[in-house]
Amino acid sequence: MVQHILDTPIEYLKGVGPSRAEMLRKEVGVFTFNDLLHYYPFRYVDRSKFYRISDIDSDSAWIQLRGKIISMQILGTGRTSRLVLQFTDGSGQTELVFFQGIKWAKEKVIIGKEYIVFGKPNYFNRKYNFPHPDFEPADEEVSSPNEPLQPYYSTSEKLKSRGFTPKNFARLIRTLLNQVYNAIPETLSPALIHSLKLISRAEALLNIHFPANAVLLEKAQQRLKFDELFFIQLQIIRLKFIRTEKVKSRVFSRIGENFNNFYKNNLPFELTNAQKRVVKEIRADMGSGKQMNRLLQGDVGSGKTLVALMSMLIAIDNDCQACLMAPTEILAAQHYKTISKMLAGLNIEVALLTGSTRKAERSVLHQSLSEGKMQILIGTHALIEESVQFRNLGLVVIDEQHRFGVAQRARLWEKSLVPPHILVMTATPIPRTLAMTLYGDLEVSVIDELPPGRKPIKTYHFFEKDRLKVIQFMRSQIEQGRQIYIVYPLINESDKLELQALSEGIDNITRHFPLPQYHVSIVHGQLKAADKESEMKRFLERKTQIMVATTVIEVGVDVPNASVMIIENAERFGLSQLHQLRGRVGRGADQSFCILMSSYKLTTEGKKRLETMVRTTDGFDIAEVDLHLRGPGDIQGTQQSGLVGLKLANLVKDEKLLKLAREFAFRTLEDDPGLQKPENAPLVRHLSNKEFDWGKIS
Ligand code: ADP
Ligand code: MG
Repeated sequence: MVQHILDTPIEYLKGVGPSRAEMLRKEVGVFTFNDLLHYYPFRYVDRSKFYRISDIDSDSAWIQLRGKIISMQILGTGRTSRLVLQFTDGSGQTELVFFQGIKWAKEKVIIGKEYIVFGKPNYFNRKYNFPHPDFEPADEEVSSPNEPLQPYYSTSEKLKSRGFTPKNFARLIRTLLNQVYNAIPETLSPALIHSLKLISRAEALLNIHFPANAVLLEKAQQRLKFDELFFIQLQIIRLKFIRTEKVKSRVFSRIGENFNNFYKNNLPFELTNAQKRVVKEIRADMGSGKQMNRLLQGDVGSGKTLVALMSMLIAIDNDCQACLMAPTEILAAQHYKTISKMLAGLNIEVALLTGSTRKAERSVLHQSLSEGKMQILIGTHALIEESVQFRNLGLVVIDEQHRFGVAQRARLWEKSLVPPHILVMTATPIPRTLAMTLYGDLEVSVIDELPPGRKPIKTYHFFEKDRLKVIQFMRSQIEQGRQIYIVYPLINESDKLELQALSEGIDNITRHFPLPQYHVSIVHGQLKAADKESEMKRFLERKTQIMVATTVIEVGVDVPNASVMIIENAERFGLSQLHQLRGRVGRGADQSFCILMSSYKLTTEGKKRLETMVRTTDGFDIAEVDLHLRGPGDIQGTQQSGLVGLKLANLVKDEKLLKLAREFAFRTLEDDPGLQKPENAPLVRHLSNKEFDWGKIS
């Protein structure tokens, strides 16, 4: 096959060569011409604008200076040694400081020569200096005067030492563009380009590197962002089309004895309207003949378990097995207990399978599963093991799906010749933009209503000075018969400081709440499963009033009598985690409380998180704030979603464009599901270049 010029290895670009190519591959992942073409500048500097040193008055922005280096000195020794260049532009004097790459910088400096310096001023010892600025001789300009916006490329000390300064990146990319401009393929159909008034892909790539002006830069960004979002949506929606068109699954046509008996005799309460609606949606899906792929979102405590159970009963009524997979042993055990209890008297076989299930028990279980006798299997990822074989698995329910890797989920699919229906439940509300991208191929149901009689949890933020007040409050709650959680951050189970905080916390609590009047449960990740279980059990049976725990209790544990959640070092938790933790209380009819303890030292972000928690209990509201604070890249699950491919588009800022991209992807596929029309050939070519892996999404 003839290789496209853009696939040429980067070493063949004029000015690169084998050893510098190795550097580019290692340091910035640039392997081919195409990769370099997509190595976008991280900012643009208006090269007609120079700052005067005397005008510098804040250390926030990147600025450009023009002037001379008048002296060069190496100060300090060993690890503190640094190169200091005195720099003047006539209006004043400042220092350019290098801690690394000293040798390289030193060799580059010619005293008295004019340089253009680009950097971020830093206020230190009552004056501004520039740590690690970029500087280039003023006579080595690469962009022409009619391109006032100059691109700056990120680079590393290592790259710089081999001559890859931001300027040199610009030079290389200029060379590349001259060579390949006419060969840059269009990726969208003419109709799309026309109706969205986009510039061509080649024009966009040229202007993202060397903008002719601010307007064209903006257009280039729009075009390239649109491409990024559009192709993700096209892939997701195509996957959705394929699944709904092609993947046949069992038809659950019957609502039978088990479901009806449960509804009539065992249902402990009236379903909420939201629960009724969602059960209906699931029933319709599973009766359609197509495979169900549904995401069930519902805030903590909204009653998802019941929905899962009723869905499983439908599967059983249609002679199939069902399984429910939970992320932790505690949660799996709790589901098992709740569900067995709810099914009392119904003659349905339910079993629990986790990593700590004994071998003998396990082989009996395997047997009854493969014979089809066992109807509901609840467990952890132990369910995925090869030895677990179902006779006719019809429904897979996955709880708290963020914790399951994509590969793990895919393996559940393989447990049945006919693909089982899939219900994914999550209590982590996902902002719309993210959901469109992460789960855009799944149907979504939302339980947007809590069971009746719940009072909104009151949330407070306290500091250490309020400790005695908090202890007082705990006593009064315990006197009223309530129970209390205290959670410590133990993000890293072997972090000494965190472990110390936990053990000091425990000492403190047992001192304030001594035996024999008070009893305390302690649960953390280093306990054996059986010990965890028995500590939980004591709390559940009200033998203890206080549960001190690390985040192992985060998901799912249900103790309706617990009405106070105290979170220590709350500033160390992420927003969604705080929200999950708070959801452990407020499950009964009593007024519940959440107390966020924090140190006095708070980052702006940490403060915002705590303020948000105090302000609202709405999970979607919290998720939006979280997305704004952290950006999508940090939100669990996004790593595996293909979102890492977003270079320019931002799911927070480009929501409008995302909607547009999704809409047009939909229209395109509706009009031409197989993308077979000639005008869609560019799309297909681009998709196949991207070597997209279907398994990465959903
Ligand atoms: P989550 O959605 O967080 O998994 P659960 O399924 O654990 O929530 O339900 C939370 C609590 O609410 C449980 O104690 C459950 O028994 C109770 N519950 C669920 N549905 C209802 C309902 N319709 N009416 C009253 N209580 C309900
Ligand atoms: Mg749950």
